[in-house]
Amino acid sequence: MAENKSEKPVFDPLPSPQEFCLTVPLYEGFRYNKDASNPFFGLEHFKGSLDCYCHGCGRHTVFNRMGEPKYQEHHHRSNYIFVLWFSCSRDRNHQACFIFHSHEGVIQKIGQNPSLADLAIPDLEKYRPVLGDEGFRELTRAVGLASHGVGVGAFVYLRRIFEALIEKARQQAATEQDWDERAFENARMDEKIAMLKQHLPKFLVENRSLYGIMSVGVHTLSEAKCLDAFPVVRVGIELILDEHLERHAREKKIAAATKGISALGAALKEK
Ligand SMILES: [Zn+2]
Repeated sequence: MAENKSEKPVFDPLPSPQEFCLTVPLYEGFRYNKDASNPFFGLEHFKGSLDCYCHGCGRHTVFNRMGEPKYQEHHHRSNYIFVLWFSCSRDRNHQACFIFHSHEGVIQKIGQNPSLADLAIPDLEKYRPVLGDEGFRELTRAVGLASHGVGVGAFVYLRRIFEALIEKARQQAATEQDWDERAFENARMDEKIAMLKQHLPKFLVENRSLYGIMSVGVHTLSEAKCLDAFPVVRVGIELILDEHLERHAREKKIAAATKGISALGAALKEK
């Protein structure tokens, strides 16, 4: 990890307690200043709440901290484990816990229940109509792998989802008269996206470098670097899917309105 050879020790900015619990994958280490007093006091004694999915309620809820952090017995200042418990604000029996390990200037989350994937998957369910069952499985697999610290594998799945969205747009474009399939096949991905821009979400067209990032990730980045980049790339994919969802909803509404208006027109004529 120590890429910087300068004499000054390098510390990582710590994620917020909410991020550490809800989005940071297990075993991702953060270097803190072990000479400082209470270097991660804000996490250990976090008094805030977590806004996330509750499997007990079957919907989003606010989880509040329960009591003080629980420590292992005989814990040592430079090597110890602590657990943060939270309970659902609707039902105190619905609980969530997060386990952290601090050792030799590095803190990491080493366990949690519900898992990151369990917290994230209900929110992803809304994308199933856009992705289809196969694509939905790939998305949940990407999130599941990243939550277990498998960064490169997670990127492979995200890239497949991206490619499937491009392919869907190509099929639409191919029905148009002036479509040039050969030019498309020989084009680079960013050129393909430009050719398909009428059929793709604006966010994807404007952020077509996302594909390059995923490809670089799969081929050259370390597991740790892929994991670092995963949340941003995932949000990028979600924004693309959100735009698809909005478009679907709009098309559905337009179709229903058109049908309604023509029915109304016909009914008025009959009178
Ligand atoms: Zn609950």
